[in-house]
Amino acid sequence: MDDPHVGGEAGGADAARADREPATERPCLTPDELGESRRYSRQELVCTLLDMAIDVIYLGVMAFWGARSIDRALSLAPVLGEWAVLRLACLFLIITALHYACSFPLAVYSGFVLEHRFGLSRQSFGRWLSRYALRNLLATGLGLVLMVGLFLLIWWAQAWWWLIAALAAFAVTIVLGQLVPVLILPLFYEIEKLEDQDLRERLERLARGTSLSIEGVYRMKLSTETVKANAMLAGLGRTRRVILGDTLLDNFDAREIEVVFAHEVAHHVYRHLAKLTLFGLVYAAVSFWVCDRILVAWVTAVAGSFQYPDCPVHALALILFVITVLSLLVSPVRNGLSRRFESACDRYALQVTGDVEAYRAAFTRLARLNKTDPHPHPLDVWLLHDHPPVAARLALADQFTAAPRSCHWCAGSDDGSPAR
Ligand SMILES: [Zn+2]
Repeated sequence: MDDPHVGGEAGGADAARADREPATERPCLTPDELGESRRYSRQELVCTLLDMAIDVIYLGVMAFWGARSIDRALSLAPVLGEWAVLRLACLFLIITALHYACSFPLAVYSGFVLEHRFGLSRQSFGRWLSRYALRNLLATGLGLVLMVGLFLLIWWAQAWWWLIAALAAFAVTIVLGQLVPVLILPLFYEIEKLEDQDLRERLERLARGTSLSIEGVYRMKLSTETVKANAMLAGLGRTRRVILGDTLLDNFDAREIEVVFAHEVAHHVYRHLAKLTLFGLVYAAVSFWVCDRILVAWVTAVAGSFQYPDCPVHALALILFVITVLSLLVSPVRNGLSRRFESACDRYALQVTGDVEAYRAAFTRLARLNKTDPHPHPLDVWLLHDHPPVAARLALADQFTAAPRSCHWCAGSDDGSPAR
């Protein structure tokens, strides 16, 4: 999945669209809007950095001190003392529960308080809490299965566990990629097929020849949760679809929605999800191998020797710590790759729609609705942004010489090949 974006309508409201001002005459962000976006982005950045710090410090404390004490206490219980797998599961649940306890105040602040302070959330606290609980319950269940599986591999596959684990993680990613749009997302949002006939026809023209079916375009009800606009390409194989938030469909005009949709089509055309999945496979292999080296060195240093079948349960915390730190270290690379993909999709959207004005209007509206700072600090972008800043996306439009729309898709040229 990917991508907060922008888009417009599914309510069949041509009349409502006609009421809106034309895209070409919309103003850019006012000084007030710009100030508000900067304040929001700055506070969001502080929350993100604090969250990272909490993760690293907490898991570091667990890895080098806490987990061993908890493991020792658990091993005194009769059943847990004999069954390492059960002790491992208990240890994982305890570490995870304490982690949630440490990060909960910040989660409330960043996920609820901040979003309300800037008028971005429509959730009651109860609804936010239930979403938070469901999300973390799913993550904990999945994490438990994965970590138990990882230790079984360490104990049984021994020195090659890291390679098998990377391949298993790849398989899990593919299965999850197929399940997310049909099983996971519907747990959180109402999702239905896009019914607006006029809009479907417009989007069909953009999807023609790309193997992406217009039947795979969905409307997701985000408006009960947030005012932020969003769109994404999700799923693999049969579950591949473009999902457009109702916040996008109801606030953007048809031309702007076309631009956003074309951007998502480009992710499909360029096989970005497959490429990111492959990147994930390489990353998993490298990070599990690094885990293996650190695990062997650390246990040898502490206990004098290391045997895979005797790998202690409390090494779980060390593995979580190393995976977290590596993930943070690699995130600039992953984000850089993602930003390249996003820019390629922006260019594609400009080329196939030829509609520079709608492109500008869509990204300006996106920045306004989502209170995105159009000019974040370059270091912030390099470290944390998986999308180019709005200013860079608008600059792309400056470089683009608009071709007449009739040259591309909208005149119904049926050769099926996008103009790239
Ligand atoms: Zn995108």
